[in-house]
Amino acid sequence: MESRGAGRARSICRVRLRRNEPTELFARSVGLDTDIVSKEMYTFEDRPAEFPPPPTMGEMPAHIEGIGRLMESGTIPRTESNVNTLKLLNNLVGELYPIREKTFEKATQKWIEFFFYLNGVQLGERISLRPEATASVVRAYIEHGMHTWPSPVKLYYIGPMFRRERPQKGRYRQFYQIGAELLGPSDDPALDAELIEMLLSFFERIRLTGTTLFINSIGDKNCRPAYIQLLRSELRKVRDRLGADSQRRIETNPLRVLDSKVHEEQAVIENLPRIAEHLCPDCKAHYSKLLQELELRGVAYKENWRLVRGLDYYMRTTFEITAPGLGSQNAVCGGGRYDGLVELLGGPAATKGIGFAIGTDRVALSLQSEHKDVAGSSKYELAVVGTTGDTWNEAIRLAESLRKSGAEVFLPRQGTRLKQALEQAAKSGVRVAIIVGEDELKNQRYTIRVMQPFYEGGQRDSSIAVSRAPSYAALIRVRSELERKLKTWAVASGLAPSAFGISSLLNLMMQQQVLPPKTPPLGKTWGGKT
Ligand code: ATP
Ligand code: MG
Repeated sequence: MESRGAGRARSICRVRLRRNEPTELFARSVGLDTDIVSKEMYTFEDRPAEFPPPPTMGEMPAHIEGIGRLMESGTIPRTESNVNTLKLLNNLVGELYPIREKTFEKATQKWIEFFFYLNGVQLGERISLRPEATASVVRAYIEHGMHTWPSPVKLYYIGPMFRRERPQKGRYRQFYQIGAELLGPSDDPALDAELIEMLLSFFERIRLTGTTLFINSIGDKNCRPAYIQLLRSELRKVRDRLGADSQRRIETNPLRVLDSKVHEEQAVIENLPRIAEHLCPDCKAHYSKLLQELELRGVAYKENWRLVRGLDYYMRTTFEITAPGLGSQNAVCGGGRYDGLVELLGGPAATKGIGFAIGTDRVALSLQSEHKDVAGSSKYELAVVGTTGDTWNEAIRLAESLRKSGAEVFLPRQGTRLKQALEQAAKSGVRVAIIVGEDELKNQRYTIRVMQPFYEGGQRDSSIAVSRAPSYAALIRVRSELERKLKTWAVASGLAPSAFGISSLLNLMMQQQVLPPKTPPLGKTWGGKT
């Protein structure tokens, strides 16, 4: 476990999970009637290595005996269905052998039957590639006794998920999520609000703008069943006006009908009973406190009574965040409360939970549509540019010592022309380039170029003594850290939008007298010619 990045300030630990789990875990938690489990999961049987190849006619009795032995030794599971199938196969062989040479047609039929049942033998545990990770986090929580940790236990994960969906923009069969879960005995709506606020501040930090938070409460085990019953009976009345998927869901999972995007169904759905009017007093109180807590934190939200989410374990708080530039796959994050899940999976009943999962592929798409890099992805602070003959050797030596002093250094390839190298550096997000040219080598001084857009007044060169270059790198690190903090603060206090460049921000601060007016903008204060 480790603690990193956005979560460090909130003491959240990373949990590393397996990428596959017993199918049973997802079937029980996500729910059998959900699309994820019924259609989208990649599931396979963990076949034993020594399982014999399919038998020929003469090998059938020995084959069945072999399976029997594997079952006795525990290599293949001794399930009720396997025991029965084996009996059936034995009977079939008993019937097949006496007739196999006499009545060809009958024998063929038995032969086909034999293979049909043989296929039904479960050879090993059913395993699924994880379609989501909350179930795995809860499994880990239970397995490692985390209920004894100080609560709430805060965990986050990053990694690939797998769903068999129709691939399209923003929807892939292997996609990536960053998710977080908060587990503990309290279901205080303030925790829900804190989690959502953390999420939004993460989006702010990576400069994902134009997001909308949709929120809803879907009740709990006291009030939801009655609502579902009511919904089902209302849906049955309008069954003819719904498509095949929604018709099926009336019986299997009526809440999911509300999620439908089918155009013709929208008018029907608008007239269905709404859960907000059927919440029990506790759920109602929980929901209105949540809205209050969000307002307290200045978090803007939109209520959406049709937000139900495709997983069974959610209760009360559910939410989704959409972002621009994504077309119809515009949800970048989904989450909610799942108070009964830990108990359902065999953990302490008192443990409640709330979490979210961000779809990072879609976040990246949205950022790209706004022509933004994912913040932090261009991690280079410095470039060392010297690409020919002796200057190349010197550039490597300097880059090495700067890296040792902790700087992230961009080194253009040998032979790249100066102009091109600087362009590449600017594209990689470098803000300061150290130019190591022939003249510089002679004079024992490097040229320093402050790049746009950091220095908005245009590029400016200065010079630095060769021996001072590594300490100069340390200075840059301090500065970029300060700059980041300043921006976060300015955005949080509403002084400037996150898209504001640092020097315009400083100018703005001076105009508004947040900073003293005479303070020169950063970038002119040091590194000047000496
Ligand atoms: P959708 O309604 O778009 O199918 P979902 O409700 O199935 O989403 P969740 O299970 O809540 O999604 O997963 C959380 C987030 O993971 C989604 O908001 C989305 O950003 C992302 N996500 C889900 N499925 C995919 C996928 N197949 N490809 C890319 N991202 C995905
Ligand atoms: Mg989906």
